[in-house]
Amino acid sequence: MVKYNQEKCLYCGGCVSVCPVMALELMETYIKYDAKKCINCNSCVKICPVGAFMVEGR
Ligand code: SF4
Ligand code: SF4
Repeated sequence: MVKYNQEKCLYCGGCVSVCPVMALELMETYIKYDAKKCINCNSCVKICPVGAFMVEGR
């Protein structure tokens, strides 16, 4: 599971474009995260420039 921190997010859309299963959607003021679709590839964690996506429990 990944955890999203809205306070850090810059809404650059980077995570949305790398997610292979389209679990992320760029909304006006946040990223919509669908945990049911997520396959835990951690691509969003790696690409986020500000660490707004973290691996949960680490
Ligand atoms: S961990 Fe992978 S599948 Fe899950 S939201 Fe991030 S990019 Fe998408
Ligand atoms: S890559 Fe990071 S800063 Fe950019 S939209 Fe995604 S969570 Fe926000």
